[in-house]
Amino acid sequence: MRLADLQGRPLRDLRISVTDRCNFRCVYCMPQQIFGVDYPFLKREELLTFEEIDRLARIFVGLGVEKIRLTGGEPLMRRDIEILLEMLSCIPGIDLTMTTNGSLLPHKARGLRDAGLKRISVSLDSLDHEIFATMNGLEYPVERVLEGIEAAHAVGLMPIKINMVVKRGVNDGSILSMASRFRNRGHILRFIEYMDVGNTNGWRLDEVVPASAIINIVDDQYPLEAIEPNYYGEVVRRYRYKDGRGEIGVVASVTQPFCADCTRARLSAKGTLYTCLFASSATDLRELLRSGATDDEIAAIVASVWSQRSDRYSEIRSPDTARMPKVEMSYIGG
Ligand code: SAM
Ligand code: SF4
Ligand code: SF4
Repeated sequence: MRLADLQGRPLRDLRISVTDRCNFRCVYCMPQQIFGVDYPFLKREELLTFEEIDRLARIFVGLGVEKIRLTGGEPLMRRDIEILLEMLSCIPGIDLTMTTNGSLLPHKARGLRDAGLKRISVSLDSLDHEIFATMNGLEYPVERVLEGIEAAHAVGLMPIKINMVVKRGVNDGSILSMASRFRNRGHILRFIEYMDVGNTNGWRLDEVVPASAIINIVDDQYPLEAIEPNYYGEVVRRYRYKDGRGEIGVVASVTQPFCADCTRARLSAKGTLYTCLFASSATDLRELLRSGATDDEIAAIVASVWSQRSDRYSEIRSPDTARMPKVEMSYIGG
């Protein structure tokens, strides 16, 4: 019998944060005003080793996980990440992908592909230098990320998904130019509603641009039609351009929550298991790994945690829940 939680949701996806460090300070994730550039990062020995990540990944696959996404922090900042990819890409039958801010892709894309990565998601919030500089917090030039996308394309990490978090009053004016840029290129642009993750971004509901408004903006210029999800539990609502120039998606986690189909577990860079992006408590798997637990023992604990899961934060979000203490996104990954 397949593992299911209290709402009957299977465990299908595992997001693994390989580092809590990042070379950006995005306003919605690790705003510079909070700690400057010196966030209280984990020490090297606190991070899971590649062997520990690989071991846990195989245990999760044994429990039903079919898709693994490496994330962070910025995953390309983890030294020798290619070695981890080589290890994980040997696990039979899994769909292995990565989410990156793209800044290091120009010189890393080929190595990632050679290590077994098949496709990639790149975050990019605007094509406008000033707006992008505001969003990434460190004036990082947009050209570098565009070069990264080109590099990923050139080595065949396809299809490339481009993630754009939309924050009202900051980059909502970039929605149409992003759609124009990535239409007709085989890349899939995905607009993400700004979420109240973590405790540092000062999230307010009036800064969220609803997915329906985003779709209307694009549809006015380039007519769209809704299309079916690719698989059960896909969080993205898909649309295709009626003129056949490709597809876009929206992740409407605030205005149209999808907790009922949420099949995702998250593993932090120090080996803590979270069953929800908005969780305030979690299970320490590193302690088990380092104290000699067997694979079966660890699998039994993960299965027990999942089978007792009842998370549905986005369905019960309110101004009060937005103020509850939560784990930072850079720590458990998006
Ligand atoms: N550093 C990598 C990157 O930016 O792609 C991977 C980690 S990042 C935490 C993963 C994803 O979470 C990114 O696409 C980012 O835009 C998204 N994200 C971060 N904070 C968010 C927020 N407050 N609301 C919505 N999405 C957010
Ligand atoms: Fe870094 Fe990604 Fe967070 Fe931006 S969203 S600060 S790139 S981890
Ligand atoms: Fe899944 Fe939690 Fe997000 Fe709901 S709020 S979709 S349970 S991660």
